[in-house]
Amino acid sequence: MKIIGKKDIKADSSLAEEIARRSGENVFLCYQCRKCASGCPNRKFMDSTITELMRYVQLGMVDEAMKKNTIWYCLSCHTCSVRCPEDIDIPRVVDTLRILVEEKNIKADDNHSRLFNRLWMTIIKYLGRGYEVGLVGALNLLSGKPFKDLPLGFKMIKKGKLKLLPSIKKPFSMMKMFSRARKLKK
Ligand code: SF4
Ligand code: SF4
Repeated sequence: MKIIGKKDIKADSSLAEEIARRSGENVFLCYQCRKCASGCPNRKFMDSTITELMRYVQLGMVDEAMKKNTIWYCLSCHTCSVRCPEDIDIPRVVDTLRILVEEKNIKADDNHSRLFNRLWMTIIKYLGRGYEVGLVGALNLLSGKPFKDLPLGFKMIKKGKLKLLPSIKKPFSMMKMFSRARKLKK
């Protein structure tokens, strides 16, 4: 956790207002009880906990909220939102931050997890469901480590834990859904 000094705090509410406008979630209801972070299954991989992220958004600390890996490591599992006494839909806040990062083309400190998210969404869009071999293969290739995970991948395919080829499920309906979402945005 980063120790925040006075000079880091801008107390600018524009980020929180933008999130409220887009998602309907009011981050100012958060009073830092930490119930969300204490139940988050991915918190040990995150640069900052989800509770800290809520504070960064309240204070308008754009770099802390949008450049760190926290928003990309969120699994959208909703453990945090069911624990939140203020009933804040936290994954919705996280999703809105991801959209803002993409729209504003903010360079994240950790582009690996952002790339993972982009590849995952592309696979879902075109195949209609997840395809782990393709996802990890493309991620490693684009990260300049094409042979990483290869021995483990072969072992898992041999044991039937992973499928070499994707099973395609209603790809056109998923593509239509993506294009409808794009039109709604305009
Ligand atoms: S939705 Fe995201 S932030 Fe909330 S508990 Fe799950 S992984 Fe953690
Ligand atoms: S559980 Fe809700 S109120 Fe508590 S810290 Fe998390 S977001 Fe804030």
